[in-house]
Amino acid sequence: MSTQGKIDLSFDKNHIWHPYTSMKDPLPVYPVISADGVKLKLEDGRELIDGMSSWWCAVHGYNHPVLNKAIEKQLQNMSHVMFGGITHQPAIDLAKLLVEVTPKSLEKVFYCDSGSVAVEVAMKMAIQYRFATKNFKKNKFLTIRSGYHGDTFNAMSVCDPVTGMHEIFSGVLPINYFVEAPSCKFNENWDEESFSPMDKMIREHHEELTAVILEPIVQGAGGMRFYHPEYLKRLRVVCDEFDILLILDEIATGFGRTGKMFACEYANIEPDIMAVGKAITGGYMSFAATLTNLKVSEGISNGTPGNFMHGPTFMGNPLACAVGIASISLLLSNNWQVRVTKIESILEQELSLARSFNNVCEVRVLGAIGVIEMKEPVDMANMQKKFVENGIWVRPLGRMFISCLPLLLVTKI
Ligand code: PMP
Repeated sequence: MSTQGKIDLSFDKNHIWHPYTSMKDPLPVYPVISADGVKLKLEDGRELIDGMSSWWCAVHGYNHPVLNKAIEKQLQNMSHVMFGGITHQPAIDLAKLLVEVTPKSLEKVFYCDSGSVAVEVAMKMAIQYRFATKNFKKNKFLTIRSGYHGDTFNAMSVCDPVTGMHEIFSGVLPINYFVEAPSCKFNENWDEESFSPMDKMIREHHEELTAVILEPIVQGAGGMRFYHPEYLKRLRVVCDEFDILLILDEIATGFGRTGKMFACEYANIEPDIMAVGKAITGGYMSFAATLTNLKVSEGISNGTPGNFMHGPTFMGNPLACAVGIASISLLLSNNWQVRVTKIESILEQELSLARSFNNVCEVRVLGAIGVIEMKEPVDMANMQKKFVENGIWVRPLGRMFISCLPLLLVTKI
């Protein structure tokens, strides 16, 4: 707030960089003064129904009493202590929950500060595993087109080179392998041919590959594509055949968003390394985790130097752990599956109208994710203004309108 009590939009425009915007000619930003349940309140008093969950994070909606209380209670004890040489109960309790809700073989938890860092950590684990097991040739990653894994350098190197928003950095990024995105959609009959490009690439390059990394079932910001679970089943088998680690990025898909607690459950497979973030703290704090199995953790720990070489300043932040415990516990005790199924059927029913529009390419819904894919790129500033005028907060992305509502408070709309 400025001294007049109004949010100083002119200062914001001149001094603050917003995500993916220009400092010279930024798109307008909307001043929010508070958020409660499924609503964001603008400075001028208007209330918007939030269709974004703040980029998939706020699964319980905003200002949730249980999450607020968890943070307030933790604040009385300590907001932060370093994690090197120190531990605390919130870190232990959150890790217990993560080990419980993620696939069974993922027993080891590494806390990170954000989703991109969790992806960096996952990729570093896959590299250090080869270093420790003296398999130096296996130092490349393979991924699928239309993927998105974050904004840091290694994460960018496995984002789609075109839709992944990092095209201009391609000359300086590590070179990794790409195959076309899975062509068989989630609801179609399985088409064996759709796995052929991946199968072929692995057979040709397995000697160089330490890991395959991809988003399971739902490819998010790189294309909003939903693909067939059988693809992941096949991938798990071929990775095992050629000693390639499987890294799943569940940062966007995790914690119920797709209708399963983790999207890999649709395929009934377990990755070697899994990155989780976004909804882990119910959207309250920047936090993430990378989990791995005994094969990777023992491989790294039995080799030289034995220590895994990563340790951020805010690792295991107690406030984030406390709200993470509260958020996951709340999900588990609140019949989240029933809620997601309900949201899915509402989205399906309401968005299906758009299927008949000439400028719409496809409408797809999975769990609490709804996508209207247009034929042409959306005029973001104009559309956002129209949504706001209609009391809704939805931020288009490229050709996509994406809706990912809070999971638990939808009945309160
Ligand atoms: N992986 C996926 C699948 C994501 O959707 C994102 C964020 N959109 C990230 C990684 C990066 O997470 P963060 O923005 O927290 O760094």
